[in-house]
Amino acid sequence: MNMPVEPLNNVSTHTLLEINNLSVAYGKVEALNGASLRVGEGQIVTVIGPNGAGKTTLLSAIMGVLGSQGQVSVDGTVENVPQVEIMVGRGLGLVPEKRELFTSMSVADNLLLGAFQRHCRGERDHGQTLKEVYELFPRLWERREQLAATLSGGERQMLAVGRALMAKPRLLMLDEPSLGLAPLVTREVFRIISTLREQGVSILLVEQNARAALRVADYAYVLETGQIAMQGPARQLADDPRVIEAYLGLSSRHQEMLAT
Ligand code: ATP
Repeated sequence: MNMPVEPLNNVSTHTLLEINNLSVAYGKVEALNGASLRVGEGQIVTVIGPNGAGKTTLLSAIMGVLGSQGQVSVDGTVENVPQVEIMVGRGLGLVPEKRELFTSMSVADNLLLGAFQRHCRGERDHGQTLKEVYELFPRLWERREQLAATLSGGERQMLAVGRALMAKPRLLMLDEPSLGLAPLVTREVFRIISTLREQGVSILLVEQNARAALRVADYAYVLETGQIAMQGPARQLADDPRVIEAYLGLSSRHQEMLAT
């Protein structure tokens, strides 16, 4: 009997996002140093790493929020200098670590703003997308009139993801979606990440909660001090003694509790 073959070098599907030799410096501080990675269509790819490794910097540079050196290509089209509007137009969406909601606006208005660029392009089907987002997050439907400022941490995270989904991204980049969330809410967020992939959205997931991230992802990269230190199929990395010691060991037990 033939066993399924693991994507050892992560090239088994059509390439949606590829970055090559990406570097970012804040003045003299080199936060990202020649990082390369790939996300295939329909994949969940995670980047794990400690505080200050450069994870947020990586996502910001891909999205064009931060200037960088190197290459970012979406669907084979190379962007030497990514710009936010262009990257959104190419199908990239970012849920930033700080969520950046419009706190004095209602849940419904925050969601509608997520479809603004599509509206400007003449697409008028945001009503259907809104319905899909409310189906995915019934809690947001219940709270649709409520001001974003008054939402709980988990609800804010749902709103941030929902708002990004309103742009109908092909690739959703999530920066620490489990940050500050209670264990049960964290589980719910990771369940939704799997659901999104089933619906055809590819995911680039940045996480400190390595255990939960490796459980949900197909492929994983370890980022340390701005460089990709390790990579491999997520299940394989989860069994790697170096990953276990640094990210999944006893000191990470609290993460186990968060993830299950
Ligand atoms: P965390 O998991 O704590 O969010 P991270 O892996 O996302 O960390 P980054 O936020 O990308 O890490 O930061 C990478 C490095 O760049 C850190 O050393 C940080 O102090 C530095 N850095 C980030 N933003 C700036 C900035 N605006 N100016 C100067 N240095 C910065």
